[in-house]
Amino acid sequence: MSTNHPRTRAVRAGINTDPAHGAVVPPVFMSTTYAFSGFDQPGAYDYSRAGNPTRSVLADAIADLEGGAGGVVTASGMAAVTAAVLALVPAGGTLVAPFDAYGGSWRLFDALERTGRLRLRLADFTGPDGPASVGDADVVWLETPSNPLLRITDLAAVSAAAHAAGARVVVDNTFASPAVQRPLEFGADVVVHSATKYLNGHSDVVAGVVVAASGELVDELAWWANTLGLTGGAFDSYLALRGLRTLHLRMAAAQRNASAIVELLAGHPAVAAVHYPGLPTHPQHELAARQMDGFGAIVTFDVGSEAAVRALVEGLDCFCLAESLGGVESLVSHSATMTHASMPPEVRAAAGITDGMLRLSVGVEDADDLVADLRAGLDRAAAAD
Ligand SMILES: *Cc1c(COP(=O)(O)O)cnc(C)c1O
Repeated sequence: MSTNHPRTRAVRAGINTDPAHGAVVPPVFMSTTYAFSGFDQPGAYDYSRAGNPTRSVLADAIADLEGGAGGVVTASGMAAVTAAVLALVPAGGTLVAPFDAYGGSWRLFDALERTGRLRLRLADFTGPDGPASVGDADVVWLETPSNPLLRITDLAAVSAAAHAAGARVVVDNTFASPAVQRPLEFGADVVVHSATKYLNGHSDVVAGVVVAASGELVDELAWWANTLGLTGGAFDSYLALRGLRTLHLRMAAAQRNASAIVELLAGHPAVAAVHYPGLPTHPQHELAARQMDGFGAIVTFDVGSEAAVRALVEGLDCFCLAESLGGVESLVSHSATMTHASMPPEVRAAAGITDGMLRLSVGVEDADDLVADLRAGLDRAAAAD
């Protein structure tokens, strides 16, 4: 592995590797099929569902940033989740997942339980009892920071407990990205991403990736991804690689903006609560400081009522009212009516999601513009209440 800084490795991944023309940027290989060099002599690639050179450059680049043995690029984050869960959970085995898991992942796990493929148990890994929640798991599924409350799981403690119980650990690292958090360093076996979010970073590609600590696991994941037809497209891989080159720049700028916004929110009378692991008042602030490089750029806060939310979001100029996250542009979403609308109100309440709660995906715009726009929105919210 190169000894260069990850920032340098992200920029240089696949650069200068074209022997045919010396193209500086690795070319996009759109061909679906590859000629054998002779009878019974396949090359490194034969068919693009199984393997594609453009996809390999992206997979190697992300695996390198995560510190894994290799990776598989998939057509979406959910394709990565599917590959990981089917490759790792044995038939009839037990999957233990967070009670506040990403909704799409929960829907898949629940469907696999209803069709008899596995047993699903939901747990809260974020408290001091997190490691004890492993129980009889075959696979422990973690998300940290969680959505939308940004609860933090102790990756080292839960991974150690899982391994002691003979379970494997998968971490959905979408909310942090490898620029901020590398779960394999804390003992996780597999990392999955929605590359749709920070890795691509421009809200114009749906893609995913699954990275494993060991070569055997990478091979198993690649086998499942090929067998199920989950692998990603060449052009999407090319775009995501272009996005990945600026991951560290984007994350640094977005985190700076997030701190400025958190400062505004923490001091504004319209705000009843701010959830951000970078705040010293966050219950797991010290743990976040230990296992993350920075605190990410997702900020959740509560303005008390749906009326206040409405007054705030109607009139924003620098934040789009939209789901998703991790792009260069700032977004605001209302968890109760948008990302978590399919949850029954009592389940939402149990997960701590209130009607006055908004989640920001802070982008890389000018901090003063974002703060001024949000301050005006908060003033409207205060007047509406
Ligand atoms: C978006 C997201 C996914 C699903 O990814 P897609 O690319 O939309 O399929 C999975 N996990 C988390 C945490 C996400 O935010």
